[in-house]
Amino acid sequence: MKGCPLACTWCHNPESIEPRSHVEWKGVLCIGCGICGTVCPQHGITFDEDGVHTADFCNACGTCTRECPTQALELKGINYTVDDLYKVVIKDRAFWGKDGGVTVSGGEATLQWQDVLALFKKCKEDGVHTALDTCGFNQREVFEALLPYTDIFLYDLKLFDDEEHIKYTNQSNKLIFENFEWLAGTDARIWVRTPIIPGATDTDENIKGLAGIVRDRVEKWELCAFNNLCQDKYDRLGKEWDFKGTGLMHKERMEELTQIAHENGSSVAVWSGATALTD
Ligand code: SF4
Ligand code: SF4
Repeated sequence: MKGCPLACTWCHNPESIEPRSHVEWKGVLCIGCGICGTVCPQHGITFDEDGVHTADFCNACGTCTRECPTQALELKGINYTVDDLYKVVIKDRAFWGKDGGVTVSGGEATLQWQDVLALFKKCKEDGVHTALDTCGFNQREVFEALLPYTDIFLYDLKLFDDEEHIKYTNQSNKLIFENFEWLAGTDARIWVRTPIIPGATDTDENIKGLAGIVRDRVEKWELCAFNNLCQDKYDRLGKEWDFKGTGLMHKERMEELTQIAHENGSSVAVWSGATALTD
């Protein structure tokens, strides 16, 4: 689901921040034929030494992406009705295995919560497992509506300190923590996830503070080690990334942070992700 109310400086899905659909250009595939500029009904494509650019008034009709002979243009964001989206997700059901199901993420999926609700209702009618990946930043009523149809919440808690939260995400953590408190008091299955970002969320104080909130009220608290695989996405979007060139976390530090979580009241903490091989 596209669109997000937060603006995390480390965001690994920058293509999903904007609510509207857009076209991405992959320079390595482009042969410079100019066909895209010819076929665009809006005359919204320009060329310069940096490559192919689409205008702000691009309406994401997809003509250029269909006509590009090398698939150098890709439409990010497709409008579906809930029924059509359900057909797309259910068609691979035979390959899911017994633990498979539907996970809705973003962006922030709850920005389109009525559609998520309708989709999850359809899933439950067919006995399909549902997971909601959320940053927790929405009105309580939204989570109340989704709760009966959500088998598991994948709930992000990023920064304990509110000033730091505002600095790195552009929003306060107050609503996120309030919603978490409420959700943890229900019978919902919850996995909390905390991205461990070098120089931002990877401090002892942050993990201590979050441990006091998470405690053992959830099934799992996953400390997810930073990775830099999204650099390519920023390059394609022509955006700078604050974490360009930042190295991976070290295994010892991930173990240390997990231990801090355990010692501060959360025995359900584990860590995941690739770590640096050397200094
Ligand atoms: S998606 Fe449509 S409007 Fe946008 S640049 Fe391509 S052809 Fe033009
Ligand atoms: S149609 Fe495709 S290959 Fe041709 S200039 Fe446009 S992006 Fe490049």
